[in-house]
Amino acid sequence: MKENNIFQKIINKKIPADILYQDEKVTVFSDINPKAPVHFLVIPNKIITSLNKIEKKDKNLVFHMLNIAILIAKKKKIYNTGYRLIINCNNHAGQEINHLHIHVLGGKRLKSI
Ligand code: 5GP
Repeated sequence: MKENNIFQKIINKKIPADILYQDEKVTVFSDINPKAPVHFLVIPNKIITSLNKIEKKDKNLVFHMLNIAILIAKKKKIYNTGYRLIINCNNHAGQEINHLHIHVLGGKRLKSI
């Protein structure tokens, strides 16, 4: 795997992160600049640069990402109180890192969008 962005370095443990979960398909870690009391990111281990780049063959992976988001929401005790998933795609959404990631936010009442 090429390590041309920070998330690939986190997957490969080349830079430190608060890794909450990792398996052969996905990595989950706390956001370094949390926007809520609980804020973690779910990313695929393989390179998918944005939501626009998912393919039909990724359907099990994307479903797995959602399931792991739910699992970690349970571990972080926000499963019942509620939480929000966000995927920023490209410039107008403010995507900073060109590696698909699901933000999971919770731990307080979030503003309506
Ligand atoms: P985006 O704006 O691309 O949707 O979200 C990128 C997220 O990655 C931001 O919330 C940012 O705080 C987080 N982030 C950027 N660099 C790092 C890092 O080195 N470590 C961790 N844990 N999070 C990071």
